Amino acid sequence: MASIAFIGLGNMGNPMAANLVKAGHTVLGFDLITENLETATKNGVTVMASAAAAVKDAEVVITMLPAGKHVLSVYADIAPKAGKGALFIDSSTIDVESARKAHEIAAQHGLLSIDAPVSGGVGGAEAGTLTFMAGGSADAFAKASPILEPMAGRVVHCGDGGAGQAAKICNNMILGISMIAVGEAFVLAEKLGLSHQALFDVASTSSGQCWSLTSYCPVPGPVPASPANRDYKPGFAAGLMLKDLKLAQEAAQSAGAATPLGAEAAQLYTLFNAMGHEGTDFSGIINFLRGRQS
Ligand code: NAD
Repeated sequence: MASIAFIGLGNMGNPMAANLVKAGHTVLGFDLITENLETATKNGVTVMASAAAAVKDAEVVITMLPAGKHVLSVYADIAPKAGKGALFIDSSTIDVESARKAHEIAAQHGLLSIDAPVSGGVGGAEAGTLTFMAGGSADAFAKASPILEPMAGRVVHCGDGGAGQAAKICNNMILGISMIAVGEAFVLAEKLGLSHQALFDVASTSSGQCWSLTSYCPVPGPVPASPANRDYKPGFAAGLMLKDLKLAQEAAQSAGAATPLGAEAAQLYTLFNAMGHEGTDFSGIINFLRGRQS
């Protein structure tokens, strides 16, 4: 069992750290918010006075922070203080460029590192069924795999440093675009007098089939577990979807990739968020699409 420092004990970090404790690891945690530290203590995490104190004797350091700037500032603080041979795992969703810089900071201090963003949300974090998308050397990935295991349903090695973040934003760009496509199809069906169930029964077994339709259907009824059945309570909040779509656009611009539908999806989610829906499930965009077309 390992000694693991966990920095960033928010909605995702706290249940992830709890699963590491349950697996028998010693987890030393730090966050800036007192309430989150209290939850961590209840989960069996040993709360430390600073990130530097948490990493001092840790074999593995996991960060679960809001954005690239937080990861880079925490890495600059803790990398010089970590023990020799420590492995750094960043599971935050951040831009590819910052992820690569984080790997550089780790390498400058002789530390192994992987970027390992997740999909599966808070539910997956609690259940220990997250999908981890990892970028980094084969050596770092081999060391990280058993550590990630208690938090994971699946762990995929996507390539070198930054490849995990690249996979995450490409996947979520598909998700954002496909949710808008499914929403538009239901809005059109309503105008044409076609029932939600009829469209679902056809499209879910035809060429229109996709996860946004069959697992996360944006109208109530056909998929009872989807957020549409609980007034679009997240789930995956529209604010986080917009974050990922913006990261995809930044990456597309710096890599010179044409992503016109990704750009349009980012624009539509920007408008949806600006109307006060940051905390609404991202499938709630169907109500915005209905409004635009009426
Ligand atoms: P959150 O805001 O609940 O948690 C982030 C935590 O980081 C906060 O508790 C904050 O206090 C802490 N923090 C910030 N700066 C810090 C510092 N310098 N030192 C220590 N702690 C610091 O966010 P979350 O929902 O847990 O998401 C974390 C990351 O996971 C984000 O990058 C997000 O995009 C990604 N993610 C979230 C979900 C989700 O459904 N919530 C799903 C997949 C990926």
